[in-house]
Amino acid sequence: MRDFSRDHRWLSINTATVRKSRGADLPLTEIIEACARRGIRAISPWRDQVAAVGLDTISTRVKAHGLELSGYCRGGMFPAVGAEGLRAARDDNRRAVDEACELRAACLVLVVGGLPGALAGQVAHKDIALARSQVRDGIAELLEYARRAQMSLAIEPLHPMYAADRACINTLEQALDVCDELDPGQPGGQASPARAALGVAVDVYHVWWDPKLRAQIERAGKHRLLAFHVCDWLTPTTDLLNDRGMMGDGVIDIPRIRGWMEGQGFAGYSEVEIFSAADWWQRDHGEVLDTCIQRHRRAV
Ligand code: ZN
Repeated sequence: MRDFSRDHRWLSINTATVRKSRGADLPLTEIIEACARRGIRAISPWRDQVAAVGLDTISTRVKAHGLELSGYCRGGMFPAVGAEGLRAARDDNRRAVDEACELRAACLVLVVGGLPGALAGQVAHKDIALARSQVRDGIAELLEYARRAQMSLAIEPLHPMYAADRACINTLEQALDVCDELDPGQPGGQASPARAALGVAVDVYHVWWDPKLRAQIERAGKHRLLAFHVCDWLTPTTDLLNDRGMMGDGVIDIPRIRGWMEGQGFAGYSEVEIFSAADWWQRDHGEVLDTCIQRHRRAV
């Protein structure tokens, strides 16, 4: 297992972590500058943050600083009502792949969606099996496009509390079942360098509780382990979405999970992804980034 205690070579910042500074929106350009100043070598930006500034500007800044993208957030949200809704989701996901390519991201992260309308509080139906089949079909279709573009797709299973509104893929096992069905030739093997992979993003916040976690990480193997997201699970948690903790402040044994990942050959970034409306988004982003660096060394 890699020693993170002496430097932050393998720290990546998911830019949602500092999307606000002292409660105010922080432009992605300033996030990039603040990361570069601290020797942070990778980020994972969100599409809305890129769009707010402009893809060309962000692409130029990223390349000027030699920053890598450990991922691009995010594609997905496949389920919809009717052919038009499905087509709109397909087109938006293709644009996400194109943007990820422009930014040279390691992968496009997929938050696959749940029941149509649930995110807006008006669910169109209660058929989660239908939603899951639309997710499967949507990923299958996008995979063809992504392969032509040489962009890897990382399915991110989300904690079951998000099954209705954000993702009806809720365990690593479920995500890997989809991978094995749609991409049967690569069970745990080595990626051919010219071939975009279909795999998973392992976010400790979503999967730490799963009794099958270790076995499913081993099942995934190096080829399917495309991203590793870290934060912590606070007790008590006061908000289902925006109360994630800083690494070391909660109950997740992050080094143990990282050890399982690296045991399979994962050698990528540990991407810090913290949504924290009442705490970290209220602090100065410099303090947040400095804390991420410290905690990466001792709690990841
Ligand atoms: Zn994540």
